[in-house]
Amino acid sequence: MKFIKPKNIENLYETLDDVGNQYLLAGGTDINVQIKNGTIRKPNIIYINHIQELTGIEENNDSILIGSTTSFKDIIESKSIKKYIPFMHNSLQNFASPLIQTTATIGGNIANGSPTADVIPILLALDAKLMICSKSTTREVFLKDFFTGYKQNVIMKNELITKILISKRAEHKYQTFYKKVGSRNSLAIAKVAVAGVKKVTKEKITDIKIAVGSLNEYPRRLFKVEEYVTGKTLIEIDFEKVEELLNLEITPISDLRSDKEYRYHVCVNLIRTFLNE
Ligand SMILES: Cc1cc2nc3c(=O)[nH]c(=O)nc-3n(C[C@H](O)[C@H](O)[C@H](O)COP(=O)(O)OP(=O)(O)OC[C@H]3O[C@@H](n4cnc5c(N)ncnc54)[C@H](O)[C@@H]3O)c2cc1C
Repeated sequence: MKFIKPKNIENLYETLDDVGNQYLLAGGTDINVQIKNGTIRKPNIIYINHIQELTGIEENNDSILIGSTTSFKDIIESKSIKKYIPFMHNSLQNFASPLIQTTATIGGNIANGSPTADVIPILLALDAKLMICSKSTTREVFLKDFFTGYKQNVIMKNELITKILISKRAEHKYQTFYKKVGSRNSLAIAKVAVAGVKKVTKEKITDIKIAVGSLNEYPRRLFKVEEYVTGKTLIEIDFEKVEELLNLEITPISDLRSDKEYRYHVCVNLIRTFLNE
């Protein structure tokens, strides 16, 4: 097991090319737990939290760009996020505790890929993209295409997430919804999370994105439900049909936090609430 602190971003990319069984350490709030409980054995740890190019929040004409090692505290306090993506600002208020908010990074939350990760459903509803880079390549991947299985994703051995890109949409034209259901309001891991963004024109839903967490092996969009409700007014929506489609898209399980029946019913109620709003 080695601990490596690259001198700069170029050195980081070279290190990613050279070292085997490597894990990045950004805030360390997930990986340190995994090393301690033995889920990860003899890892080579590459520290990235000091690399300037990976941190901070920028904006251009169309998008907000969040560096992957930006902490949740900096995201919650960001004026750009408050102004252009108030949905994200509001939804993250119950992320962990102030101490974890200071340390945990957005890139770590995404890459760790827990089914319960709070930021992933929010970013899925915003149709965010990830910038993924290696020494010689840069690619953009929609978050909806990032996960391939439980804690599996499309990042290759020599790559890392450098930025998260979110469109500066006219949010006032959209209705937003976020509900994280846990055992208590703060410092809770989600039993169910639903995030949604929808646009209604002349009573018809003309654009909608719904994402759920803690209901599948990774957080995901509900494409079938989205497709069914698009173009419909509220009275045209058959909620039995919504439930039928939902059954094809979620696979709730029972575990120490909750049981699958509870998760299922809470999810149905939250989606109904969002569509009715
Ligand atoms: C007490 C406590 C409370 C918590 N509460 C919550 C909560 O309420 N909600 C929630 O969602 N999570 C919660 N978590 C989990 C954790 O804090 C988050 O998932 C956090 O965002 C992880 O970020 P990190 O920087 O600490 O990741 P790290 O632990 O540094 O890394 C996690 C994983 O991501 C990989 N990684 C990190 N950065 C990158 C990158 N840029 N590119 C590619 N791979 C990368 C690492 O290799 C590692 O596998 C909690 C954890 C603790 C200990």
